[in-house]
Amino acid sequence: MKKVVKFGGSSVANAGQFKKVADIIKSDKARRYIVVSAPGKSNPKDEKITDLLYRLYDEITAGKSYKKTMTAIRKKYVSIADDLGLKFNVDYELDKIERDINEGAGRDYAASRGEYLCAHMMSEYLGYDFVDSADMIIFNDDGSVDYDRTYEEIARTLENVKKAVIPGFYGSLHDGSIKTFTRGGSDVTGSLIAKAITADMYENWTDVSGFMVADPRIVKNPKVIETVTYAELRELSYMGASVLHEDAFFPVRKDGIPIHIKNTNDPDAPGTLIVESTCKNSKYMITGIAGKKGFCSVNVDQPMMNSIVGFCMNVLKVFADNGLSIEHMPSGIDTMSVFVHQSEFEDKEQQIISGIHRAVKPETVMVDTGISLIAVVGRGMKSVQGIAGRIFSALAHVGVNIKMIDQGSSELNIIIGVKDSDFETAIRAIYEIFVDAE
Ligand code: ASP
Repeated sequence: MKKVVKFGGSSVANAGQFKKVADIIKSDKARRYIVVSAPGKSNPKDEKITDLLYRLYDEITAGKSYKKTMTAIRKKYVSIADDLGLKFNVDYELDKIERDINEGAGRDYAASRGEYLCAHMMSEYLGYDFVDSADMIIFNDDGSVDYDRTYEEIARTLENVKKAVIPGFYGSLHDGSIKTFTRGGSDVTGSLIAKAITADMYENWTDVSGFMVADPRIVKNPKVIETVTYAELRELSYMGASVLHEDAFFPVRKDGIPIHIKNTNDPDAPGTLIVESTCKNSKYMITGIAGKKGFCSVNVDQPMMNSIVGFCMNVLKVFADNGLSIEHMPSGIDTMSVFVHQSEFEDKEQQIISGIHRAVKPETVMVDTGISLIAVVGRGMKSVQGIAGRIFSALAHVGVNIKMIDQGSSELNIIIGVKDSDFETAIRAIYEIFVDAE
């Protein structure tokens, strides 16, 4: 059994967290390849190492004083090394980074050093090898991952390495210079490694006990989702649930490797298992609720619209020609509505309205603003009666008017449009009827 195990910034924020990580790793022999982020915040006033490194780079290259920033970085690593009794020479490494930036090393190089130093220290602490991602994760010049070469290099490099600590977040371009993923990219590093070595599991350790059924800023102490499919998670994350880095799903999903989200501060909590498919039903008939504010609908009216061939296509072409992607498009016999992000629409509203008039000569084009979309997601909904009914009665009960309803043929979700001012009330009501009432 082989597991790739990734620890996020808060899991390696200080020596105490390093000790928790070591206990977790030692408790399961399958945890052989460890990917680490750069140290994150130990407390709300603290700063993330990656943020400090970006600032360091900006200050050095702008010729500003960078002493304060360097001191903050040094303090963090020195305290971890001292508390754990490591031999790792932090001062030597930081002097080198400072010199390299002064001599022209790039911004990505600077940011990547957070993970690089952290992985070195973790490897010494655990007694595992250090393997540099720069030698395994290869980017094309356009910033995309060169997947074929990356999988090849990872498999070749780790073939004879039994246990290793690997820095997350970066790799290198074909010319050897360092290139990072976008923020949060250590999730992607772990996923690429899991895929390349055909891991049995990709564990992603963080500071929460998994994905919640609803946003904890809206619903108090929401339940954790125990098992979720990739398809459900995609729906939830598209609608605003904060999950892993979006590029982390693709490599493992393609090979059916599950991802297990776990909490470093509560390792016995079951966490959330993300799988391609499962017999296990969600506990609550629905799996999760997520939503976003800030949509508007563009309502196009035309008597006898239903008999005009190509009407919808010509309306949608106006949106496409203006570079706007559409979210939903419910329609009636004499009317169609196109839901789009309001902030994107605002910039181009008059071009689009006049474009629709020119394209299909409708009677009216009216815009309705301030709409939220809420997705109620669940693999268990398929062919089960009464789910939509329960949602609608819950919303009626709290006086929320539904402005739009959409259910795709996959029956994986039901999307509801409500006024922005009803957003939180609606989510709480749906949560209550499916979770609290169970
Ligand atoms: N350290 C990087 C960041 O803060 C990458 C990561 O943690 O995944 O975005």
